[in-house]
Amino acid sequence: RHNPQGDGQFLEDESTKIFARKVADHYSARSNQTLEEREASPIIHLKKLNNWIKSVLIQLYTCRGDAVLDLACGKGGDLIKWDKAKIGYYVGIDIAEGSIKDCHTRYNGDADHHQRRKKFTFPARLICGDCYEVRLDKVLADDAPFDICSCQFALHYSWSTEARARQALANVSALLRPGGVFIGTMPDANVIIKKLREAEGLTFGNSVYWVRFDEEFSSKKFKSSSPFGIKYTFHLEDAVDCPEWVVPFHIFKSLAEEYDFELVFAKNSHEFVHEYMKKPEFVELMRRLGALGDSNQDQSTLSPEEWEVAYLYMTFVLRKRGQPDKT
Ligand code: SAM
Repeated sequence: RHNPQGDGQFLEDESTKIFARKVADHYSARSNQTLEEREASPIIHLKKLNNWIKSVLIQLYTCRGDAVLDLACGKGGDLIKWDKAKIGYYVGIDIAEGSIKDCHTRYNGDADHHQRRKKFTFPARLICGDCYEVRLDKVLADDAPFDICSCQFALHYSWSTEARARQALANVSALLRPGGVFIGTMPDANVIIKKLREAEGLTFGNSVYWVRFDEEFSSKKFKSSSPFGIKYTFHLEDAVDCPEWVVPFHIFKSLAEEYDFELVFAKNSHEFVHEYMKKPEFVELMRRLGALGDSNQDQSTLSPEEWEVAYLYMTFVLRKRGQPDKT
């Protein structure tokens, strides 16, 4: 095959595809858990805490009737959160066929594994695809513009190459209306690199997770390496086991600016929890979700190991430049 960019580029393209497949297969293969299995998970309180973080972000930035684009929507775990925010329309995209199938099932309310519930009030379109490889503006021309785009625990899968990181931001930018918001959560590169520097070798973790960097990214070489393609393997008990990529935040911020975004805020999850636990409505939400347990009711709470995993993540909010239409 003629390859004008040379074999190096060809090999990079191939390995990028292989890794994207690996990520897709990993998530596709994860089956739905029963409520009992979920409650018995060693990271159940972390899952609840992450749901609280996502709920707070959604409540802070969504208006009634909004059109929502959920990039890497997974099994549709956030559908109920969007329903509570009374959105008007939802498009979910994910690369994992199995997850999109589960998302369909959950949206249709046939076999919700947590509880039987009424149908969602908003219309939805669910698509299986690689959000970081293809241009979505044509695919979603009839659905755009969106008021809000959400990418939860997934944007780091776009940082395997510069082209993919750019495609991710180009897609969101093209599909959001002026003044629209891009909310998300992803690993906090500052924490991950700090932990790597403090580690004896290329691995660190605790009883519920480990991170292992490839030999080529031993911390000393970090300064000279490209900010894209910094790969590690992430293992989280009962949740994740796949290749991921570091997203150096200052590079992410300046790349986002190229695509017409301005930063509203970025916060490590610990800081996010401390800040929003000052607000009574979110304290009440935390109590209802049970993330921090309830000492009065003798419930268990987030373990120090789970709290350390929370520290590996951050939340971000970006706003697309421009004024919203008054109509
Ligand atoms: N956003 C969901 C949530 O918060 O429950 C799912 C998060 S899960 C940790 C990461 C998701 O990213 C998986 O569903 C995976 O299939 C999806 N993903 C990874 N790479 C992707 C890509 N290139 N395009 C679309 N989805 C992708």
